[in-house]
Amino acid sequence: MGKEKKKQKKGGACGRNDSESAGLCHCGKEGVVFLPYSCKHLCQAHFIRMFDKRFRKTVRTMEMLKKGDNVAIALSGGKDSTVLLHSLAELKKDLPIELFAITIDEGIKGYRPKTMVAAKRECKRLGIKLHIYSFKKLCGKTLDELVRDSTGDLPCSQCGVLRRYALNKAAKELGATKLAIGHNLDDIAQTVIMNIMKNEPSRLARLNEPMAKRGSKSASFVPRIRPLMLTPEKEIAIYAMMKGIAIERIECPYAYTAFRQHTRRMLNETEDRYPGTKFKIVNSFLEMEDALRAKYSKGAKISECERCGEPCSKDICQFCKIVRG
Ligand code: SF4
Repeated sequence: MGKEKKKQKKGGACGRNDSESAGLCHCGKEGVVFLPYSCKHLCQAHFIRMFDKRFRKTVRTMEMLKKGDNVAIALSGGKDSTVLLHSLAELKKDLPIELFAITIDEGIKGYRPKTMVAAKRECKRLGIKLHIYSFKKLCGKTLDELVRDSTGDLPCSQCGVLRRYALNKAAKELGATKLAIGHNLDDIAQTVIMNIMKNEPSRLARLNEPMAKRGSKSASFVPRIRPLMLTPEKEIAIYAMMKGIAIERIECPYAYTAFRQHTRRMLNETEDRYPGTKFKIVNSFLEMEDALRAKYSKGAKISECERCGEPCSKDICQFCKIVRG
């Protein structure tokens, strides 16, 4: 009997046993979620337990938080950051930390006002203070106006630079010791592949920098943490639904312009064919991270922008280049 036939007899391509093939959770209840990368069916209670366990394990093993941290949560009102808000609020019951949220209003008509309603509602529900900062106040223009006046920069490139700047500035002003971002497994896998496709390994070396586990060398950067970086995007949506966390599903009107969208489609296709690909990409990156950092951080220095005083690696930061020309 060929190998393939033996596999089929055992219970399918991933060698599941009879109860797993029938769609049962290991507890015997009917599975409501199937995890193709581990060939497991889970009932609702076990899925939620697995999700919470993985969240806490990521925070613990990567030493993202410690007792007494004042954590700023970058809250857009979308599913990832809203689930992050809820999971950190839950973690706070066992770990003495302070939490507050920051929402950046980029000024995207028809999009951001709606997600801000969701952000305010969830913060109120959990009793977490929300601070709103806007591009308009920070640089005198909304993203819509910057895009209108731009001579070629893609909206997401401008938005990314301005958001990073605004979040760091806000977190610093509000006394945060950590800045929690809702990036999930898919986001990190996309970023790794994009940096490879653009031949920018030095950016890859800075992806996780400054990491909380190493501590930020520069007082100008608030260390970023990504507690959902090992959680697939789909599972965040399922978790939100099961826990009754209302999320705003609207998509940014500029999203289609991004290179990231192309990479997302490509990786989703590959993941469908070869389950576990996204985990493998991120795990490979984590394995290579120290070597990349050792190679590319040599001689790299963080100085202050001549114009605004914020941290940057050149004389003028990207923010000032976009906003002030
Ligand atoms: Fe900004 Fe692009 Fe995200 Fe829209 S899709 S919020 S423009 S980064």
